[in-house]
Amino acid sequence: MTEKRRIGIMGGTFDPIHIGHLVTAEAVRIEYGLEKVLFIPAGNPPHKQDSNVTPAMHRYIMTVMATYSNPHFCVLPIELERLGPSYTIDTVKELICLYGGQTDLYFITGADAIHDLPTWEKIDELIGLCHFVGATRPGCIRKLDDVIKRFGSLGRKRIHRLATPELEISSTDIRERVRKGRSIKYIVPESVESYIQKEGLYI
Ligand code: NAP
Repeated sequence: MTEKRRIGIMGGTFDPIHIGHLVTAEAVRIEYGLEKVLFIPAGNPPHKQDSNVTPAMHRYIMTVMATYSNPHFCVLPIELERLGPSYTIDTVKELICLYGGQTDLYFITGADAIHDLPTWEKIDELIGLCHFVGATRPGCIRKLDDVIKRFGSLGRKRIHRLATPELEISSTDIRERVRKGRSIKYIVPESVESYIQKEGLYI
């Protein structure tokens, strides 16, 4: 029997993308033998309808610049092109159409986001369609255990975690640093730092 292809989906708001995201994606790619990782910036994050998210085009451009040098990474603007809230179920179904049923999809995101999985749109259907990898900051492991238990044996099969010390970095912290005029050098790729400065983001 031939092995199924494995493809990663790196889902996030990426406001902005940072080194923690890149290190995590590369670590998951290697750990799970993924052929490639598709970065998919959330167009209209369903749980952030009332908050002040940077326009999708800026987040998309920064994601393209940050991932450009890795031949295993690419960026898909599919959530930017869809109207309405960006539900992961719609994204995963679109990718199943694109890659066919003989591909295992691994949705990679922060453990905090995975913790809220039970509230996601059509979650009982979604968990049957793809794997989830929760990138955990040190100290978050217990939280993921609760979610895995909630989905029983399917949860144990489908929800995985990967400890990523680099996730001490957060987009919130980066926005705060820019606002306060502090350096973000080496926390984001150089191209992203220049883009933030040029476009006057987060001030
Ligand atoms: P978030 O609530 O902004 O982030 C939660 C935590 O996870 C933050 O600490 C964040 O750190 C981290 N994180 C986010 N994306 C990450 C990634 N790819 N790798 C590592 N850490 C990451 O979550 P979000 O970014 O808006 O949403 C995450 C993904 O889940 C998106 O693709 C979103 O569309 C999806 N989602 C879907 C539904 C639904 O379908 N109903 C509901 C919620 C979320 P940083 O701030 O540093 O990134």
